[in-house]
Amino acid sequence: MVEILWFRQDLRLADQPAASAAAAAGEVLPVYVWDEVSDGVRPPGGASRWWLMRSLAALDADLRARGGRLLVLEGRAADVLASLARETGARAIHATRQTEPWWAPIEAKLGGLLKLHGWPTLHPAGALVTKAGGPFRVFTPFWRAHVAKGAPAAPCPAPGTMRFAPVPGGLAGRGVPRFSPRWAAGFDGVPGEAGARAALAAFLPKVSAYAARRDFPAEDATSRLSAHLHFGEISPRACWHAVEGRDGAEAWQRQLVWRDFAHELIRQHPDSAEVPHRQAFAAMAWTDVEREPGRGWLEAWQAGRTGYPLVDAGMRQLWRTGWMHNRVRMVVGSFLVKHLGIDWRLGERWFWDTLTDADLPNNAMGWQWVTGCGVDAQPFHRIFAPVGQAERFDAMGYIRRWAPEYRSVEPVDPIVEHGAARAAALARLAAIRKEAGGAADGGAADGGAADGARG
Ligand SMILES: Cc1cc2nc3c(=O)[nH]c(=O)nc-3n(C[C@H](O)[C@H](O)[C@H](O)COP(=O)(O)OP(=O)(O)OC[C@H]3O[C@@H](n4cnc5c(N)ncnc54)[C@H](O)[C@@H]3O)c2cc1C
Repeated sequence: MVEILWFRQDLRLADQPAASAAAAAGEVLPVYVWDEVSDGVRPPGGASRWWLMRSLAALDADLRARGGRLLVLEGRAADVLASLARETGARAIHATRQTEPWWAPIEAKLGGLLKLHGWPTLHPAGALVTKAGGPFRVFTPFWRAHVAKGAPAAPCPAPGTMRFAPVPGGLAGRGVPRFSPRWAAGFDGVPGEAGARAALAAFLPKVSAYAARRDFPAEDATSRLSAHLHFGEISPRACWHAVEGRDGAEAWQRQLVWRDFAHELIRQHPDSAEVPHRQAFAAMAWTDVEREPGRGWLEAWQAGRTGYPLVDAGMRQLWRTGWMHNRVRMVVGSFLVKHLGIDWRLGERWFWDTLTDADLPNNAMGWQWVTGCGVDAQPFHRIFAPVGQAERFDAMGYIRRWAPEYRSVEPVDPIVEHGAARAAALARLAAIRKEAGGAADGGAADGGAADGARG
């Protein structure tokens, strides 16, 4: 019998419960559906589409090495899969669970034909609950519950052998499309499962220094696994177990738990990329980017031409490589929202289009965190000073690399002056506080922003 294996953001064969289940049940027909049209779908932006196309090609090559291939179809996923199942007489469609809100209606349309396996996170959704039995809204107790639960299940190996179903005649020619945005020439990373494994192996010797060095953007101290994890080329539990028992592992495992927490938040707030968790922020008077004085500010930020060396270096690293260091993501995000007073959703969308690791849960949580409108976020009144951040995290080497015209961390012809911008941001905050009749930006209820994990 034919078993359709529907790949989504689980583009791997190791620790892939859907692949294992399909292989155990019968002849596998692996398929990926490029779907830009189903209700609510947010298609990948340019940079992440670049990664995706290469990841699909790598998966196709891995399947071919086993005697199969990846069929890539286009259209409404539910319709495309239902018609493929009819055409092939498939018994089931196997898939790994996903968190993004657009999947549930598509899955519902497939009804009993769809068999869901595994999770994109360390633990199944809902496995960790508060003492009152509800979902977590604050990171530190979520982390504590994680620690109390113990290590996630060990990863399972790739299926030993796979028998493949023939691809239906009319579809045999469909391969993996190529896509490159015009700015992709310098993108970093090797998409695909082998690339993910190599990135993890390269990171292992750095785990012990991670906690001390991860905030220094000039250093190559982090794993660079984010796009691999987003596309599921490696499972988070495989990452967890690879470092388990190593000196310093916990600091890095904690970041994997932040990723789980972002998935938790997106389940609670599916519209997190659009709607601030703290309602008071809906009334914030953001800068009008079409009129003076804000005209041109968004473009200056995007192009790395704000006059602030660390901000400009970060934005140029993003444009050239499709990735930006986490500390710098916080600095450029804070600068957009607080110094320029520009709506965080415009920053979220720019990242969506330019990050190869663009990820709905992580990006929405990151932007709500830097803005201070997230449920567990840095308070709005904590404004990163780009110069102070560059000094504290020894960023001159990073600035020299990405914005070499700057000779120091000090601004040159800045589009806004730090002190005035800070005062304007605090005035905007005071206005929404007044409107909300008190505190609008309580910040992290447990001090999560300041607990060293992110701040
Ligand atoms: C404004 C803003 C936007 C962001 N947008 C994204 C995004 O679209 N996609 C994305 O994957 N990450 C995003 N992040 C989180 C973080 O910056 C990246 O995950 C990290 O820089 C990736 O580099 P790395 O793989 O070397 O991370 P490492 O430090 O090696 O961490 C290992 C893994 O843990 C996870 N992780 C690390 N930090 C965080 C975090 N703060 N929140 C959630 N998960 C985390 C990632 O999956 C990462 O690959 C954003 C952060 C901010 C402040």
